[in-house]
Amino acid sequence: VKQSGRNGHAFFTSTMQAGTRQRLRLLQDLRRAIVRNELLLHYQPKFPAGGSRANGAEALLRWNHPELGMLSPDVFIPIAERSGLIIPIGEWVLDAACAQLRAWHDAGNADWSMAVNLSPLQFASPTLVESVRGALQRHALDPRQLTLEVTESTAMKDVDASLQMLEALTAMGVRIAIDDFGTGYSSLLYLKRMPATELKIDRAFVRDLEHNAEDAAIVSSIIALGRSLQLQVVAEGVETEAQREFLGALGCDVLQGYHLGRPMAAAEFVSCNS
Ligand code: C2E
Ligand code: CA
Ligand code: CA
Ligand code: CA
Repeated sequence: VKQSGRNGHAFFTSTMQAGTRQRLRLLQDLRRAIVRNELLLHYQPKFPAGGSRANGAEALLRWNHPELGMLSPDVFIPIAERSGLIIPIGEWVLDAACAQLRAWHDAGNADWSMAVNLSPLQFASPTLVESVRGALQRHALDPRQLTLEVTESTAMKDVDASLQMLEALTAMGVRIAIDDFGTGYSSLLYLKRMPATELKIDRAFVRDLEHNAEDAAIVSSIIALGRSLQLQVVAEGVETEAQREFLGALGCDVLQGYHLGRPMAAAEFVSCNS
């Protein structure tokens, strides 16, 4: 089951997700992962289209399991979500990402921003607003330098509750990205009312962009939609120079992907992007 991941770590593949016994074991281990210091964040750079210097990062969670090695979030986030453990884990992520951003600012990269992913359960949690506020205060950060990424399907699940949550978060000044955009079923009416600042085009549409006319048409309409709603448009999963050029020409604002920078440890992020 163990395979070498694309960035050199041993990742467990989805064949492992099937096993109930493995899941139970992971759940038991995950309960102790925070106190045992086994969770860590990797950071993937975000680049302004046409620019060569990153202006921010997305924090991506990893679990360095004592026996199984480095686990991908696709393996353990669903377990954390179902068990409710995602709430304390999510708070740990917010705090660790804010601490890292503070360290980068203090080291002279004061214009960098940070994006943090929120799971559906976190997004529905009444404690979210206070934990975001707490993390920003503890690390003396300007809320505008933090982006919270919520998937389109999470944001569309309970539209009224989502609007309330998004309004409370944006009132604080944090930025909101609608992640995996194009895979859910947003009504344009709700999208218009939603106080988001960023649309992230799902990488499924980027993959065959240069070869598939339908994908190119979808990407170009998402970009046009984002522009008309005055949202920043981000493309994820940029793996080739041709995709980078194509997305730049279509007017995409920000690019992210292996071609520009893989998720990496904090120290490496600084040496690659300063
Ligand atoms: P996502 O938010 O859509 O994150 C993008 C995923 O695409 C990341 O996978 C990233 O490593 C990968 N990626 C980036 N560039 C490329 C590329 O050019 N090609 C390809 N094929 N993939 C690329 P990762 O790190 O395994 O994370 C998977 C998902 O796990 C994330 O998807 C997000 O939904 C979730 N996740 C990660 N960290 C957290 C977290 O702290 N909290 C929560 N709630 N979810 C998280
Ligand atoms: Ca994301
Ligand atoms: Ca995404
Ligand atoms: Ca995704």
